[in-house]
Amino acid sequence: MEIFDSHTHINGPEFKDDLFDVIVRAKALDVTSMLLVSYDRLSTEQMLALITKYPTLYGALGCHPESASSYDQEFERFLRQTLAHPKVKALGEVGLDYHCEVSKKLQRQVFEKQIALAHELNLPLVIHDRDAIADCYAILKGADIQKIGGIMHSFNGDATWAERFLELGMELSFSGVVTFGNAKEVKEAALVTPLEHLLVETDAPYLTPQPFRGMINEPAMTRYTLEFLAKQRGLEPTKLAQITKQNAERVLKIND
Ligand SMILES: [Zn+2]
Repeated sequence: MEIFDSHTHINGPEFKDDLFDVIVRAKALDVTSMLLVSYDRLSTEQMLALITKYPTLYGALGCHPESASSYDQEFERFLRQTLAHPKVKALGEVGLDYHCEVSKKLQRQVFEKQIALAHELNLPLVIHDRDAIADCYAILKGADIQKIGGIMHSFNGDATWAERFLELGMELSFSGVVTFGNAKEVKEAALVTPLEHLLVETDAPYLTPQPFRGMINEPAMTRYTLEFLAKQRGLEPTKLAQITKQNAERVLKIND
């Protein structure tokens, strides 16, 4: 089977010394496609090197809400320049993170600016939400998001929120969090998500799925999240791998 890890940071410093092995281990567990999400110049440089070298790796770049205060004209220029690359398929991760110290008002402004840019460039969005789901929803609802599409990365809301974001035309991507014993609501969200809007991801190096929680996450581990969800949905993993890969390729317009 072929699995698409729709959100990973192997372009980050955590992986710089064993990148090749990380990609080999992913392949060994059938994780063959990945979206490499970058957030600054260094991770973008590494992302561009990797997506140029490997045909089934793709890139994304956005100003993460934690870095909202560094969004200026120069960053926007860099963003536009990077997003022009044919294998950079999404603007993100962008959104709101009320867990961090950055001013909420500033986060919302930077989020809205980048949504407008995604519309201008006709690129889907990758959304990061932490402790801010209601505001995140309100902003996306006012932004005609259906036109460009987008992925709720590591979706962490309950079934009711899942239905609301689905109504906006978003895809929901589930990380290792869905395998955690205490993530009952996220499991319920994954169960109500129609198969054609379901994606899987690692968010490596974070959010390692069970039974490996505590270890550093890497793309290979998408396999365990996929198998967990397949079991919950009563599907063969191969089938769910095929569906989630098609979904990722559709929203990211990979074969267009
Ligand atoms: Zn991320």
